[in-house]
Amino acid sequence: MTQTHKDQKSVALVGTPCHIIAAEKMDHYPNIIGDVPVDFKLGLFCMENFSHTYLKNFLSQNNIEMDDVKEFRVEKGQFWAYLENGEVFKTPLSKAKTCMRKNCQVCMDYTSELADLSVGSVGSAPGWSTVIARTEKGLKTLQKAENEGYIETKPIPDSGIVLLEKLANKKKKENREEIKNRESVARPVLYRRYINDEEFTEEVASCQFTDLKSDVIDVGSCVLCGACYYACPENIIAIEDRKPQLKGDCPPECNLCYVACPRTYLSQEILNRELDQKPLGNYIKILSARATRVEGQDGGVVTALLNYLLKENITKQAIVVDKMDDNPWKPEAILTSDVDDVKKAAGTKYSACPVFKVLKDNTEKNSKNDSAKEVS
Ligand SMILES: Cc1cc2nc3c(=O)[nH]c(=O)nc-3n(C[C@H](O)[C@H](O)[C@H](O)COP(=O)(O)OP(=O)(O)OC[C@H]3O[C@@H](n4cnc5c(N)ncnc54)[C@H](O)[C@@H]3O)c2cc1C
Ligand code: SF4
Ligand code: SF4
Ligand code: SF4
Repeated sequence: MTQTHKDQKSVALVGTPCHIIAAEKMDHYPNIIGDVPVDFKLGLFCMENFSHTYLKNFLSQNNIEMDDVKEFRVEKGQFWAYLENGEVFKTPLSKAKTCMRKNCQVCMDYTSELADLSVGSVGSAPGWSTVIARTEKGLKTLQKAENEGYIETKPIPDSGIVLLEKLANKKKKENREEIKNRESVARPVLYRRYINDEEFTEEVASCQFTDLKSDVIDVGSCVLCGACYYACPENIIAIEDRKPQLKGDCPPECNLCYVACPRTYLSQEILNRELDQKPLGNYIKILSARATRVEGQDGGVVTALLNYLLKENITKQAIVVDKMDDNPWKPEAILTSDVDDVKKAAGTKYSACPVFKVLKDNTEKNSKNDSAKEVS
C-alpha cells in the first residue's frame, strides 16, 4: 500500500535522535511509505527525555509551577529550572530522572548519528554549540551558513571531543545493559535485532497496529514520534493520553504503521550495528559554532541554520518544536516557512513531541485548502 497524501515540498526537520531515525527509516522505504518530504535532518544530542506530566508533578512537589519557569537546562549532572522571578531551582539529575520516559532507557544514540548535522552543547564553551557534520550536504550547509554570516565557527578543543565520546559511550553501555535486562524478563527490544531488508519485509508483512501496540507501545519502547500516525493511510491512529491509539479497523493488507515505527525492526541497511563501536557514529567534521544574529538554548546554531535554509530558499518549510500557549512547556510541533516562528521555537523543551503528526496534519490541511480554492 502506498501513501498518497504527501507532497514534494522540501522540509527541514529538527529532532531528537529517535526522530531522526524515524525520518531515515521512512526515507528508506519510499516504495512502501511513499515520499516523505523531509530532506534536511538537523539532529540534537539527547541523553534522556522526560514525561511532561511527571515533570509538572515533580516541580509542583517542589512548589514550582511550569508557568514560573523561563528556561530548563540539564548540565553537569544537575537539572536546572531558571524561574521568571530570577530564582534558580537546581536538583541532582538522578532525582529528576524519576520523570524520565521509559523508552529512553533503551536508546543507544546520543548524538543523532543519522542526521545531516547534529547539534548539542556538550564539548563546547558556554554560549557555543558543538556541531557534527555527517553528510556532504550537512557540511556544505554549515560552510555556506558561515560564509553568509549566519554563524561563526571555531575548532572544538580535544577535551570537548573526549567528553562527548565519554558520554555517548556511557549511554550506549548503560542502555545496552537495560536492553539485556528487559529481554531476559520480557519481550525482545525489536529495533536492536540484527535483520536485513529482505528479512524485514518478511517479518513485517502481516504486522498491523495491534502488533505495534504489543511490540512497542505496551513494552515502554514508544518514543512518541508520530511516525505511525503520519504513515497511516486510513487516518485511524490518534495520539491521545501520551500514546498512539487505534480508532478504527485496519484493512487486511496494510502494515504501514509497523513499517514506519523507529522502534520496530531497524534493518542493517538503515542502522549498521557497527555504529555501536563508534561512540559518535560516522562523521566528517566536529566543530564549535554559534549564531551571529539570533539566540537559542546554547549557541543558537539550530535556529540560525534553519533561518539560513529558509531565507535562502534551500528548504521551503521547517518542523520545529514550540511550547503550547495554554499548557506551559508542553511541546508542540509546528511546520512553518516563517523565520519568526523558528526564532520563537528556539530553546529546549525536555518532553517528547510527535513531530511527524504536524507533517501529516498540515499537508492534509493544505490539500483541503487547495481543493477548496479549486472549487471556488
Ligand atoms: C530532550 C532533549 C535532550 C537533550 N539532551 C542533550 C544532552 O544530553 N546533551 C547536549 O549537549 N544537548 C542536549 N540537547 C540539545 C540541546 O538542549 C540544544 O537543543 C542544542 O544544543 C541546540 O542548541 P541551540 O542553541 O543550537 O538550539 P536552538 O537554536 O535553541 O534551537 C533548539 C531547537 O530544538 C528544537 N526542540 C526543542 N525541544 C525539542 C524537543 N523536545 N523535540 C524536538 N526538538 C526540540 C526546537 O524546535 C528548536 O528549533 C537535548 C535536547 C533535547 C530536546
Ligand atoms: S528515545 Fe529518548 S533518549 Fe533516545 S533520542 Fe528519543 S528522546 Fe532522546
Ligand atoms: S493503523 Fe491499521 S490502517 Fe493504519 S497504518 Fe496501521 S495497519 Fe494500516
Ligand atoms: S508507536 Fe508510533 S509514536 Fe510510538 S515510536 Fe512507533 S511510530 Fe513513533
